[in-house]
Amino acid sequence: MEEQELRFNSKTIHGGQAPDKGYGAVMPPIYQTSTYAQRSPGEHLGYAYSRSANPTRSALEKAVASLEGGAHGLAFGSGLAAVDAVMKLLRPGDGVICTNDLYGGSYRLFTQIFEKYGIVFHFMDMQDLDQVAQHIGENTKMLWIETPTNPMMNILDLKGLARLAGEHGLLMAVDNTFATPYLQRPLELGADIVMHSATKYLGGHSDLVAGALVVKDGNLADQLYFIQNASGAICGPMDSFLALRGIKTLHVRMERHCQNAEAIAHFLQGHRAIEKVYWPGLPQHPNHHIAKQQMGGFGGMLSFLPKRGGRAAALGFLERLRVFTLAESLGGVESLAGHPATMTHASIPKKTRERLGVTEGLVRLSVGIEDVNDLIEDLDRAL
Ligand SMILES: *Cc1c(COP(=O)(O)O)cnc(C)c1O
Repeated sequence: MEEQELRFNSKTIHGGQAPDKGYGAVMPPIYQTSTYAQRSPGEHLGYAYSRSANPTRSALEKAVASLEGGAHGLAFGSGLAAVDAVMKLLRPGDGVICTNDLYGGSYRLFTQIFEKYGIVFHFMDMQDLDQVAQHIGENTKMLWIETPTNPMMNILDLKGLARLAGEHGLLMAVDNTFATPYLQRPLELGADIVMHSATKYLGGHSDLVAGALVVKDGNLADQLYFIQNASGAICGPMDSFLALRGIKTLHVRMERHCQNAEAIAHFLQGHRAIEKVYWPGLPQHPNHHIAKQQMGGFGGMLSFLPKRGGRAAALGFLERLRVFTLAESLGGVESLAGHPATMTHASIPKKTRERLGVTEGLVRLSVGIEDVNDLIEDLDRAL
């Protein structure tokens, strides 16, 4: 069957995949090899050295490209290695406009590595398209977008931003880790590059670290492939295999993540000890209407602020949880809880952090796919 004819929930299983040519293995074998025999110099079966290409990695790259509706995929050793490759498209003096409540590791990479090489980053609230437009200057080359944002779950208007990027000839890159292609496909809304930490929902089982990029344009794909091969931060064959295995159940997992998060958002919203719940599926969420337009569901990530007690209350709550695990990361089948101010966002200066709403009392949940009653009882007990 032609790939394009498949619906999303079949693409997770068959997208870009065909039984292995050797023995018909249904899952791509883990080609744990660095090099490949050549019949005559330069004459090989498409693979010469595993930094340049590896069949297990190729299978993952095709699968992710298929899910995002792109033409080319690239798999990296981590999500940040994928971000790193995108930034290497730029030259000293080039400017990037990015989301202000960005994944902490991306913020650190931008401000502590790439600023040193002369790339200029403008962090701003990209919910305000006029403000973004005002900051586009002669040297601006790229929009770096995260939506939903982390950990405040703000929603940015991808179509509106793509219009701006188009008008000014900017590359638009979207970190789609939180939403996954099941809920949101930025390339279809006008983005040029989609980035993933496959460590999270794509892998889905908290058992690997990997990253991915997907693009439509062949020329852009060539540039990124050159950077990937030249810099070398590739995804290994074992992790490629695990990510592929995870992707096969993405649609089923995401459906349950969304359902459980919805029940928990409503439970927290109605709890007397809770000040505020940040989840784009709540009608009170300031950009709920945009989320509804550009996403197929509202995702499994939410944050909340207890009414009083600040840091001590948040830490006490986290220590009392039994079903939720207190841990970094997100997107696995098991529910995790974290304290952004000391964990994922510790690398962002305190003043900047607090301005964004990442206060000492804020708690972030990655809602897993357990029985939701066990999750709610756990939260209730800990509160
Ligand atoms: C985890 C994460 C990253 C970084 O990915 P790694 O695989 O940890 O390198 C980037 N963006 C978001 C939104 C993330 O959650």
